[in-house]
Amino acid sequence: MKDSQRRRVLVTGGAGFLGSHLCERLVADGADVLCVDNFYTGTKDNLRAVAAEPLFELLRHDITFPLYVEVDEIYNLACPASPVHYQFDPVQTTKTSVHGAINMLGLAKRVKAKIFQASTSEVYGDPTVHPQKENYWGHVNPVGARSCYDEGKRCAETLFFDYRRQHNLPVKVARIFNTYGPRMHPNDGRVVSNFIVQALQGKPISVYGKGRQTRSFCYVSDLMDGIVKLMASDDDFTGPVNLGNPHECTVLELAERIIELCGSRSQIVFEPLPSDDPARRCPDITLARAMLKWEPTVPLAEGLARTIEYFDQLLRNRGQLRNSAVSEARA
Ligand code: NAD
Ligand code: UDP
Repeated sequence: MKDSQRRRVLVTGGAGFLGSHLCERLVADGADVLCVDNFYTGTKDNLRAVAAEPLFELLRHDITFPLYVEVDEIYNLACPASPVHYQFDPVQTTKTSVHGAINMLGLAKRVKAKIFQASTSEVYGDPTVHPQKENYWGHVNPVGARSCYDEGKRCAETLFFDYRRQHNLPVKVARIFNTYGPRMHPNDGRVVSNFIVQALQGKPISVYGKGRQTRSFCYVSDLMDGIVKLMASDDDFTGPVNLGNPHECTVLELAERIIELCGSRSQIVFEPLPSDDPARRCPDITLARAMLKWEPTVPLAEGLARTIEYFDQLLRNRGQLRNSAVSEARA
């Protein structure tokens, strides 16, 4: 393919968990990828597989400041995503969602680019409707510990749809539900990474509350397929569209599953439930099935096994694992 025919794609937050998988996927698909990241939670390590590719370029930049580049498509993923990370500097979290969206939408308008927004199931808050459909407006505390993220993402959605209405910008908004897989940050406090690291190290598994709250976990490769399909869909289809795995499980069931898959002797301990922790969360993906012909295909046990393998290797490389529970279980 001639360079002049190649799609030039900007991925913000490209050094993070999801962003790094997206950069890899887009380079593999033949796109010319510019990854922008301020390394707040992401790392260059996450990009090791694509760093040397001629089609890949990395720029250190904070999207709360304007950016002037020439691209055809923008994937806006920059924003800390785990409650521990986004609550560490909540003002910066809201700035990243809101100022970041304004800057990226302004860029898209100037260069006439199609723009994708990584929104979240958190826009539904602690939902009173179950499972959550896109037409549910949500149940969000505007002044709580999670609000910097929830309200920031809600405002970003508003901006995307106002740019669509006011400037006819091609926008694509996905509401992403809990996604897991290799390259999750080992210390970001998210449930899958926490439980796996604890189980591999033989430490107590920290279940918050009674563990009866539910989540629905999507493996990262399934999510990537959904994002790519959404971006390739007709311009009339803007979303918001739920992308997630509709298989719902309790946090306690997840803990038991991970202990078993790790062959771990860890015990479960119950710790206080964080404030505003949603009680139930499960996507209704009827819209994604109909419009994108998309649904997740990786079962939880398989995705967890791949993720456990990743963390086992990571901890071993860091000398944080004397005897690997996974390799012991396999032996
Ligand atoms: P992550 O923390 O691994 O990645 C976020 C990336 O954004 C990091 O590389 C970070 O350094 C970068 N970043 C943060 N602030 C920035 C700024 N101001 N300028 C430039 N870069 C900045 O999180 P993730 O899980 O990969 O999530 C990526 C996106 O997907 C986020 O927008 C998140 O809200 C959304 N999302 C993720 C999930 C999930 O389950 N992982 C669920 C819903 C939505
Ligand atoms: N959780 C838990 N133990 C942990 C980390 C999280 O019980 O060590 C629970 C948390 O209270 C929530 C669920 O797991 O109910 C998912 O948490 P996570 O931070 O992964 O994502 P959330 O969906 O809350 O944004």
